[in-house]
Amino acid sequence: MTLQEQIYELFLLEKQVRGLNRRLEVATYQHDQMQAKLNRLQAQHDELATQHKQTQAHSSTLEHQARDVEERITTLRDQMATVTNNKEYSALLIEVNTLKLSKGKVEEEALVQMEQVEGLQSQLTELMSQIEEQKKLVSAAEGEVKNRREEVGAELTERTAKRDAAADQIPSDIIPVFNRLCDQHDGEPLAPAVEDNAKRMEYSCGGCYMTIPLERVNSLFTQPDTLTTCPSCQRFLYVDDVLREQMDARAAKNQKS
Ligand SMILES: [Zn+2]
Repeated sequence: MTLQEQIYELFLLEKQVRGLNRRLEVATYQHDQMQAKLNRLQAQHDELATQHKQTQAHSSTLEHQARDVEERITTLRDQMATVTNNKEYSALLIEVNTLKLSKGKVEEEALVQMEQVEGLQSQLTELMSQIEEQKKLVSAAEGEVKNRREEVGAELTERTAKRDAAADQIPSDIIPVFNRLCDQHDGEPLAPAVEDNAKRMEYSCGGCYMTIPLERVNSLFTQPDTLTTCPSCQRFLYVDDVLREQMDARAAKNQKS
């Protein structure tokens, strides 16, 4: 195999490995998204549960307060029944009325808190059912990841081994360049040279569509053990079947004439 053929083979294997990896990544990504949503729901639930607990505690404190005030009023009323002078009686009466007012306020506030507790409780119930639903989605996504792994796993191992073996055949200084081009061009480190105009012998890069000088196209044919790059995007250029046929046809024509 020529170096050009070797790098082309590596390119094809790399494409297969990337394609298989992508199938795994899609499933994993979906699973992660669903898990993240579940985590958000659970955090929301925990926060609400804390709020629920605090509101409940506040509400029961207020109830206690109301009961204490009630007791105090009863005591004062008993005293009122035993006092003998008017001045003392009116003082007690004023205190009782003041306490009645404050008891009313405390009870009102307790009612508001109770309503909040109920509201929070129903939000919690709603969240719990959302969490249950989301758990089902996460577990389905987990199953999907597992299936993909089983489906793709063996093939991925095999293709990766082939890709690595193909890479071992290529001079080691070329591999980092190949890998960098893979990253830069989304797994497309090679591009075909394209004939734009046969008469004027104009060529371009099938990756970035920029012009390729004729001598680079020539070297693709005359120096198969040298890698030729596109001057614009730096991809390694290769001769595809279309270009080969065009060149062969021209050579045949030239021979005739
Ligand atoms: Zn290019």
